[in-house]
Amino acid sequence: MILTVPVKGVFWTNCYFYADENTGHCFIIDPGAQGQKLIDTAWSNGWVINKILITHGHFDHTGGISEIRKKISPPVYAHELGRLYLTDTTKNLSRLCGQNVIVQDVNYLHDGDIITLSSNHSLRVIHTPGHTEDSITLYDAGKGIAFVGDTIFKGSPGSDKYPGGNTSDLRNSIRKILALPERTVLYSGHSEPTTVKDEHRLASSIT
Ligand SMILES: [Zn+2]
Repeated sequence: MILTVPVKGVFWTNCYFYADENTGHCFIIDPGAQGQKLIDTAWSNGWVINKILITHGHFDHTGGISEIRKKISPPVYAHELGRLYLTDTTKNLSRLCGQNVIVQDVNYLHDGDIITLSSNHSLRVIHTPGHTEDSITLYDAGKGIAFVGDTIFKGSPGSDKYPGGNTSDLRNSIRKILALPERTVLYSGHSEPTTVKDEHRLASSIT
């Protein structure tokens, strides 16, 4: 199941739990703030947090990790280019917002990697740069869901205006996401869920 937990740091960000209720194991995706609230959420559901996955290195998607690590130590995973953001407070935008968010001890992912939670829960890594160089989409084809970070929102494309942003990469990445099956539900960092079908109109606006 997917549980959305909005968290508030400098901004509101959608943090997601990707959980297998049968095994009681879950991944946390983009713990942007309020780490203790996320631990409490897992524990109140009886879930063990197996891994923390981040869709890209902006601090509003990683700012809760240090608080989580004070209590438990699930391994953290990001795209290999995440190293450009996670330890650079200018690139990860935390300095701009008066914060100092650094994330170390990260395991790096590559396009095409499969991250397995349980026998019937796994996510495929699709590298979708453009908003940042390290942006990834985490896709579960069987369940028809994708965590898209800030690459695409309900009704609008992501921004390419931050360090490492790139207009043509973003366009290609959005095309890649919109090439998934129409019924795929897209879970973004800062909007309501949407579907590939509902965002097809974006394809014409970005060409
Ligand atoms: Zn972002």
